[in-house]
Amino acid sequence: MDNGLWPEVHGRKEYMDFLKKLFGGSPAKSQKRYYTFSVKCLRCGEVIEGRVDLDNGLSVEYESNRDVYYARKVLIGNNKCFQRMEVELKFTSTRELLERYITSGEFVENGQVNY
Ligand SMILES: [Zn+2]
Repeated sequence: MDNGLWPEVHGRKEYMDFLKKLFGGSPAKSQKRYYTFSVKCLRCGEVIEGRVDLDNGLSVEYESNRDVYYARKVLIGNNKCFQRMEVELKFTSTRELLERYITSGEFVENGQVNY
């Protein structure tokens, strides 16, 4: 993304500096950020909530000229159905969702970031 509104940031320190500027230099707390989403099992229709820890739950991979942050989750419902749903999420270095994939299920709403 390069729309000129957001500075490009490449690392955690830069990102924190950016946040400090954004929020007027308030001391950085160790806030957890979670990306939450809901998926629906294609087999039984159960809706299951998933959550990704954006601070500790991502693994970095390098694509052409940028870092991409991956998260993989396997979700299993609580009902008798034991269908496994595998979710894969890709984020930018600023934790914006790039892409998402799911097998055996479907996303039922847009994910959101909780502070
Ligand atoms: Zn199911």
